[in-house]
Amino acid sequence: MERIGVVGGGLMGAGIAEVCARAGSAVVVVESEQTRADDSRARLEKSLRRAQERGKLDDAEAVLQRITVTTELEDLADRQLVVEAIVEDESAKVDLFKRLDQIVTDQDAILASNTSSIPIMKLATVTSRPSHVLGIHFFNPVPVLKLVELVPSLMTADETTERSREYVEGSLGKNAITCQDRAGFVVNALLIPFVLSAIRMYESGFATAEDIDQGLVLGAAHPQGPLALADLIGLDTTMSVAQSLYEEFKEPLYAPPPLLARMVDAGLLGRKVGRGFYTYD
Ligand code: NAD
Repeated sequence: MERIGVVGGGLMGAGIAEVCARAGSAVVVVESEQTRADDSRARLEKSLRRAQERGKLDDAEAVLQRITVTTELEDLADRQLVVEAIVEDESAKVDLFKRLDQIVTDQDAILASNTSSIPIMKLATVTSRPSHVLGIHFFNPVPVLKLVELVPSLMTADETTERSREYVEGSLGKNAITCQDRAGFVVNALLIPFVLSAIRMYESGFATAEDIDQGLVLGAAHPQGPLALADLIGLDTTMSVAQSLYEEFKEPLYAPPPLLARMVDAGLLGRKVGRGFYTYD
C-alpha cells in the first residue's frame, strides 16, 4: 500500500498518519476545517521531531514530506486504503462512509474505521462495497502501542482482512489480532469491566483508591492500577464505552456504576482535567 488516506487528524488520526508515513507510505490526512488541519500538522511535526530527538527516527523531515494535510475529502480519490478516525458519532461516520464510497475510485481500495464502539456493519452497509469495509482499531499512543484489532463484519471479504493484516503487520510492524464485530472488540470488552469492578470496589468503601491500585500493581504486576488507568483513559470515555458494551450485551458487569456517572456529571474526567480518582498538577 503506497497511498493511504486518514480522515480526522486528531489524537488517533495523527498517530495513524505518522506510523503509515514512517513505514514509507504517502499519506493524505483530511480534517474538517483549516484550523484543525493546522493543529493536526503541528501535532505530527511535534511527534516526529520528538521521535528524532530520542534517536527513534533518522529523518523527521523526510517523513513529514510524505504527509499532506488537507480539508478536501476529494483528495482521497486515488487512495488504496482509507482509515477513518473522526469523532465517535454514528451519524457523522455514516455520512462520511457514504461520501468515501463515492470519492475513492479504486474499487479494490479498503475503507477502514478506527471506531471503538460503532458496529462496522452500520458503516459497511451504506457503501456499495461492504466486502471492502472493516475495522482497523489502533491503540493510543499509536506510534508506541503494538496492538491493532482487525474487525471484519459479516460482509467483509477474507481478502480485505488479509490485505489489512499484511499492511499493519508487514509494513507498520504492529501485531494484529482479529475479532468479531461486537462492542468492545477484545481489549475493551475485557478491560472495561475490570475498571468498572475497581470503581464499584472503591465506591462501596471496600478499600482506598491507592490500595486498590497498589494491589494490582504490586500483586499482579500491572503497569498501573485500574483507577489510575480510568483517569488516563478519561472517565467520560470509560463511561461511553461501558454504555455501548451494556447496550450490546445487557450484562450487569458492563453497567456503569453510579459513582462513575456522578463523576462524569461533575466534570471530574481524570488526567485531562487534572482531577478524577486522583488529583494531577
Ligand atoms: P479526536 O477528537 O482527537 O479527533 C477527531 C478529529 O476528527 C478531530 O480533529 C476533528 O476535527 C476531526 N473530524 C471530525 N469530523 C470530521 C469530518 N467529518 N471530516 C474530517 N475530520 C473530522 O478523537 P480521537 O481520540 O482521535 O478518536 C477518533 C476515533 O478513534 C474515534 O472513533 C475513537 O472512538 C477512536 N479511538 C480512540 C482511541 C483513544 O484512545 N482516543 C483509541 C482507539 C480508537
